[in-house]
Amino acid sequence: MATASAQRIIQEGIARLQAVGMGHVRHEVEWLLSRLVGARPLELYLRDAPIPTPTVERFFSQIDARAAGIPLQYLLGEAEFFGERFAVSPGVFIPRPETEVIVDAALGFLRERERRLGRPLQLLDLGTGTGCIAVTLARALPTCVVVGVEVSWVALRAARQNVHRHGLSARIRLVQGRWGAPLRGGFDGLIANPPSVPSGQVDHLPLDVRREPRVSLDGGPDGMRELASLMEQAPRLVRGGGVVAFECGEDEVSELVRAASAASWVEAVAPIRDLSNRPRGALIHLR
Ligand code: GLN
Repeated sequence: MATASAQRIIQEGIARLQAVGMGHVRHEVEWLLSRLVGARPLELYLRDAPIPTPTVERFFSQIDARAAGIPLQYLLGEAEFFGERFAVSPGVFIPRPETEVIVDAALGFLRERERRLGRPLQLLDLGTGTGCIAVTLARALPTCVVVGVEVSWVALRAARQNVHRHGLSARIRLVQGRWGAPLRGGFDGLIANPPSVPSGQVDHLPLDVRREPRVSLDGGPDGMRELASLMEQAPRLVRGGGVVAFECGEDEVSELVRAASAASWVEAVAPIRDLSNRPRGALIHLR
C-alpha cells in the first residue's frame, strides 16, 4: 500500500471482510479504525495525515480477527446497551438489543411497584454477565438496590468494571455463585437472561456467536434446563406481588408460559414481545 490514507485502508478492510462473505461491513470497519486512531468515524475521511504504520498493522490484525469470526465487541472491548457503553472481553456474553426489550418490560412494572410500595426496590439479576441488566435497572430506578450474581470470574471482573464505570458501586452488589444459590429471598423483582439455546443447536449458531462462552448459551437438551431451575428458585427469592422477567429463545417462550401458568405461586404470566411482535421472554407476576 503506497500511502496509508484512512480512505484506502478502510476500503482494504471492507474488501477483506467481504472476501469471507460478510455483508454490511463498512460501519464495523470504520468503527475499528476510528477507535485505533482516536477520532470519530466521519472525521477519518477528513484527515490529511497518513495513518501511522503501527496503527495500520493493528487495524489489519483486527480486521483479520473479525474475518475469523471474533465478535466486533470483543475487538472494540465494549458493547452498547440501552444507549450506554459496557466493557466486554472474550469469555463474557455480549449484551444484546433483545435483552433491552426484557428490561424495558420489567421496568414498566417495577416503576409502578416502587410508587405503590413507597420504598426502594430490591432487585436481582441472575447471570449478570457484563452487568448490563443490573446497571440499567439501577440507572432507571435511582433508589433501588440490585444484586448481580455471576458464576464466571471473568464475567464478574467485567461486571465490576461496568458497575464502577457507571458510578453504581453503592447500589449494585456483585456476588460469585450459581443462580440464586448464594442468596436469601426478599427481592421485589428478578430479571435474567439465562442460556436457553438447545444444546444441539449451539454448534450451528453463527461463527461469532460461537466465540462467546458456551455456558451463556447452552440451555440443555431442550433449551429449558436453566429456565426450569430458575423457575424452581423464583418463589424462594421473590416476594409475593413481585415480578420475574426471563428472556429466552422464541421456541422456549411458549414452554415457559405453560410452565408458569401451571405454577402455584404465579398470579399471571404474559409473553414479552419485541417491536416486530416476536416473543422474546415472559413476564411472570407472583401471587
Ligand atoms: N445477563 C447478561 C446479559 O443479558 C448475560 C446473559 C448470559 O450470559 N446469557 O447480557
